[in-house]
Amino acid sequence: RDSQTAALIAVEDAHLAHNYHPLPVVITRGEGAWVTDVEGKRYLDLLSAYSALNFGHSHPAILAAARDQLDRLTLTSRAYHNDRLAPFAQALADLAGKDMVLPMNTGAEAVETGIKVARAWGYRVKGIAPDAATVVVAHGNFHGRTTTIVGFSDDPDAREGFGPFAPGFVHVPFGDAAALAAAIDENTAAVLLEPIQGEAGVVIPPEGYLREVRQITRERGVLMIADEIQSGLGRVGTTFACDREQVVPDVYLLGKALGGGILPLSAVVADADVLGVIRPGEHGSTFGGNPLAAAVGLQVVEMLASGEFQTRAAALGQHLETKLAEFAGRGVTAVRVAGLWAGIDIDPARGTGREVAERLLARGVLVKDTHGQTIRIAPPLVVRATELDWALEQLRVVLAG
Ligand code: PLP
Repeated sequence: RDSQTAALIAVEDAHLAHNYHPLPVVITRGEGAWVTDVEGKRYLDLLSAYSALNFGHSHPAILAAARDQLDRLTLTSRAYHNDRLAPFAQALADLAGKDMVLPMNTGAEAVETGIKVARAWGYRVKGIAPDAATVVVAHGNFHGRTTTIVGFSDDPDAREGFGPFAPGFVHVPFGDAAALAAAIDENTAAVLLEPIQGEAGVVIPPEGYLREVRQITRERGVLMIADEIQSGLGRVGTTFACDREQVVPDVYLLGKALGGGILPLSAVVADADVLGVIRPGEHGSTFGGNPLAAAVGLQVVEMLASGEFQTRAAALGQHLETKLAEFAGRGVTAVRVAGLWAGIDIDPARGTGREVAERLLARGVLVKDTHGQTIRIAPPLVVRATELDWALEQLRVVLAG
């Protein structure tokens, strides 16, 4: 019965670099929170492509925006203007309460762009000596896979064997505002943080931490850059995870869900006194700001502007939190929940995160393990409470053995 699955996985093994260890399921269709594999079996997708599918698979309004644009114009490069980029940039800047947008494609590109912007601001506005600018980052961070970014990761799998790395990054413990204040000096251009660390296992900093970071960076003349690529755009029940503490960073880094689950679209969003430092010819991307991505991104921003998805994520998140609390001591050692996003630490006596993910797969639920014992849940925000309940019942059965 699983012959097609096995055959396709064998071809992948032979012809794809082994940079991932996917669950053994081959998906062929997706609709809302559900996907179907090549054998015709359906699964509830509780990963949402690491939050890139916040609006679910095949959202009709996003598909319509993409289809309409596909027939008109898909790519111009930024050598010319296109008529979709202006409305997208204006809407996204409005959503974030900022002046300007710099569109890129992947999340890692937005992070790289944010670092360049911070350094240029450091030299041109703050007056840091040439090539001396530093960026403060957190232990346990995940900001992507380019060589500069893995260079300031402290995950050995991400960095070992890939050096030499770019200098200019200073590490502090995540959640410790005093350590962050102590790490800042006259060469610090920016502090770069995930407001909630996603890949680390949905690690939520102590209440008040983001507000303290905001105050310290403002007082010390340092940019606060929030990497909201995984945490932002509705996931935690607010537009941005920084909103949970009413914090407005100087720079937002956005990606994943911005592309509506259709294509890669990322952006750096900031006020003109920061993003305005970049001059023509200093930065760019052939596909960044392409009209197809801009049309999709505009639709996504319009959907978020209504607040409907944030409200839904907040309500479902409360439901999820209540239900997950019942797992304490029942095969689960810790649970962290922020909106419709959870890190669940599995009791090693019940297996590894990977083993639990495989057992859930067999019962029609897709989740992804991270760092050995943790599974992460990030369902599409269109999921129903009854579907979540059903998935958690499968988790209960799997953990009971
Ligand atoms: N920043 C954060 C917080 C992320 O979670 C990720 C991806 O997981 C990235 C950046 C990198 O995004 P991409 O994989 O699109 O390069």
